Amino acid sequence: MRHNKPDNSPPDDDNCLTRRDFLKSAALASAGIISSAAGLGAFPAPAQAGTDPGVREARYYEALGGGRVRCTLCPWRCVTSDGQRGACRVRENRGGKYYTLVYGEAAAMHVDPIEKKPLYHFKPGSRVLSIGTAGCNLRCKDCQNWEISQRTPEELRAERRLTAASPQQLVSKARANNIPVIAYTYNEPIVFYEYMYDTAVLARRSGIKSVMISSGGINREPMLSLAPYLDAVKIDLKGFSEDFYREYTSGQLAPIKETIKRLIALGKWLEIVYLVVPTVNDAKDTIAAMSEWLLKVGGPSLPLHFSRFFPAYRLKNLPATPIETLRGCRDIARAAGLHHVYVGNIRSVSLSSTYCPKCGKIVVKRDGYRVLAYDLKPNGACRFCGTIIPGLW
Ligand code: SF4
Repeated sequence: MRHNKPDNSPPDDDNCLTRRDFLKSAALASAGIISSAAGLGAFPAPAQAGTDPGVREARYYEALGGGRVRCTLCPWRCVTSDGQRGACRVRENRGGKYYTLVYGEAAAMHVDPIEKKPLYHFKPGSRVLSIGTAGCNLRCKDCQNWEISQRTPEELRAERRLTAASPQQLVSKARANNIPVIAYTYNEPIVFYEYMYDTAVLARRSGIKSVMISSGGINREPMLSLAPYLDAVKIDLKGFSEDFYREYTSGQLAPIKETIKRLIALGKWLEIVYLVVPTVNDAKDTIAAMSEWLLKVGGPSLPLHFSRFFPAYRLKNLPATPIETLRGCRDIARAAGLHHVYVGNIRSVSLSSTYCPKCGKIVVKRDGYRVLAYDLKPNGACRFCGTIIPGLW
């Protein structure tokens, strides 16, 4: 066994790759020297029966010879040998083939309002069938869903937390309950790409929409392949520097920016969420730089949600984000030129409603996740002045 991590144990922060380590490791891996997943929780696989639930051959990987494969789904590009697992804990090399271990089993399944995702310019007030599985390709210290995202499928199965739910069953469930949207959410849906993809294809055929709630770490080819079946995407922008991403997520910012630009170029409906963590990513110049970049790549109509942090996971030592900080972030983003800037995880009509940028009237009045009033015409025009508000209404 090559790995020094015990099976099923989450990586300690000390064991997360630094960016330098990551680049070095990736270079060595591409030279066929070591596994690029070794530093970020490449776990030995537990013994598996031949007919494992949840197992399907992965769509994006390449054989490297000698039984090794390189996963090409996300920026980690994990290189594994037989019996090893990628950094997300849910993809595994078995005899020189690569497999997803989280196909057709949901670790979480709920019916939510679309505002909870949050998507504010997409079918306001709609109910959404939300599903998630195990695993993640990041290690965010403030993860709200670590109990599924930082776990293996085996752990969740042992706790009876997995529910068999094929793509067809999900679509049938949505149809039977008149739920118009399926959301791939809770943990990072990119790590259950095949499950999400097949569900989205079936959903499209049934007239049900699909939305991906993601942190955006996905490579170009799989993103281009999936995009036609997605109706909207929310990307969590966790910070706005490589240093922040390295220290607080063990990931990288650059690929996330690429995904955002790619989705905008594809014309996909996109909303951005930025969780404001006190003293960690709330510096005014950071908020300004991020807002200016979003304006440059997405224009003034790209919705930006500042979300309130509450102590969680490995950041329990920090306080909840002060409301004044959130207001300040909103002011900075609006001053940068973004028209639709929201504050989430709080109840506030003024901070969560959609305003017409021309006449200033509220066109979608919200209180928390509830839509209280709706003053848009079917084409998205403000009922008071006729200005078109971009979105999928
Ligand atoms: S999806 Fe998982 S296995 Fe594939 S590159 Fe990303 S972290 Fe590694």
